[in-house]
Amino acid sequence: MYQYDLIVIGGGSGGVATANRAASLGKKVALIEMDRLGGTCVNRGCVPKKVMWYAASVADTLHYMTEGYGFSVTHKGFSWPTLVEKREAYLQRLNALYAEKLDSNQVTLIQGQACFINSYTVEVKKQQYTAERILIAVGGQPVVPNIDGAELGISSDGFFELKQQPKKVCIIGSGYIGVEIAGVLNALGTEVTLVARGACILRHFERELSLQLMAQMQQDGVKFIVKQNVIKLEKVSDKLKVVCEPSPAKVVQAECCEHERTLSEGVVLSEFDCVIWAVGRKPSTENLALAAAGIHCDKRGFITVDKFQQTNVERVFAVGDVTPQLQLTPVAIAAGRRLARRLFGDEAGLHLDYTNIPSVVFSHPALASVGLTERQAIEQHSAANVKVYRSEFTPMLYAMTAHKVKTLMKIVTVGEAEKVVGIHMLGHDVDEILQGFAVAVKLGVTMQDLWDTVAIHPTSAEELVTM
Ligand code: FAD
Repeated sequence: MYQYDLIVIGGGSGGVATANRAASLGKKVALIEMDRLGGTCVNRGCVPKKVMWYAASVADTLHYMTEGYGFSVTHKGFSWPTLVEKREAYLQRLNALYAEKLDSNQVTLIQGQACFINSYTVEVKKQQYTAERILIAVGGQPVVPNIDGAELGISSDGFFELKQQPKKVCIIGSGYIGVEIAGVLNALGTEVTLVARGACILRHFERELSLQLMAQMQQDGVKFIVKQNVIKLEKVSDKLKVVCEPSPAKVVQAECCEHERTLSEGVVLSEFDCVIWAVGRKPSTENLALAAAGIHCDKRGFITVDKFQQTNVERVFAVGDVTPQLQLTPVAIAAGRRLARRLFGDEAGLHLDYTNIPSVVFSHPALASVGLTERQAIEQHSAANVKVYRSEFTPMLYAMTAHKVKTLMKIVTVGEAEKVVGIHMLGHDVDEILQGFAVAVKLGVTMQDLWDTVAIHPTSAEELVTM
């Protein structure tokens, strides 16, 4: 009756993972993609971002580390176009690998933009396709606010299209994307100003770490303009001007601590050759004709799903950034694979548990986090039941160098058993340290379990079992 068992709309992290898993379980699957395979992560997100982060880390090493370790290095400069060319070649290899994998699983790839005709039919380039079930995995896109001159700025997508390195940049937004781009550009030699609506960056993370990261970035050259709301961009000769007003009182109330709540004056920032919007992302649902299939969205346009990724329409599902859940590649993949196994692999009841999902901000230094922050733990368990372990130290890496970057680690525990409900770290290597400890948190580790584990010496990670 239907042409396919499953049609997947969107060939990014969630869509490709689900299509491959469903096909490997013997189902007839089609995947529709209107752009390059791999979606945001491969083409405009995690992967090109991490390449830029590695480049910035190499720059930091050359800048800060060589002398202390006895090297006398003269380097002949940095070529942004060379880095971008090599990065793009790598991404194209990944695009090809994605296509090969779909092909080897016999997933039919349909190139073009899909929209719904009804709950079991989609149309691409005037051709209609039917399926017993449809998965929406169309992801999201950067938000550009509706203010005068907004189009003079670029988004994170535009950042990855820059053919030349900008000399002076203003980044608007203090979430992880803005902070990561700020760190990269600053390490590579661009003059960076970051404008934040609140008093601090990364407001959803452990506050003490966010503040310490901000102080470190400031020390390394990033300029922060806080409690400012951008209201206009203007072009003055060939440079850009950013006009701000004080953030609305309700933002300052919500995002700032008591002592930070005084409102500031509006500022005007100028002479930028590039302005980057990093003020959030919205779901890519506008061209999908969701109403034709009767699919509901929330107020912000995200497709609402239950814990089984099912929309309000029984045969239609959604995973990844198009849903209101955590916007991370492994989350989209994990939700999609579990969905395929539940629908086609007889694993009834299988779904993704969205608690204790670890994540890393690839700032300089990196910030790694799993579970509850101290504030969340107190809100959920009361202050009397929460105990926080904290360690701040200069890693041995910096013992030989003049430039020092501190590491700060916090373990949040609850109850008499001191069950670990959160681990938060800022510093060198924390991006690689967290994954194993996230397994332990997921399994319900206690402080005693950590203390019972013999340390690996000398490492930064050993602090977590010796605090
Ligand atoms: P996407 O990967 O966005 O895929 C959606 C696909 O659907 C796209 O290819 C799009 O072209 C296609 N599509 C859209 N509409 C249609 C249509 N109508 N018809 C056909 N095709 C359509 N996550 C991490 O885990 N770690 C990181 O370090 C990280 N860094 C990031 C850095 C940046 C700058 C950004 C922007 C994101 C980053 N993310 C990171 C988030 C991560 O990229 C996303 O969470 C992930 O890509 C979401 O996957 P998805 O499948 O939901 O959507």
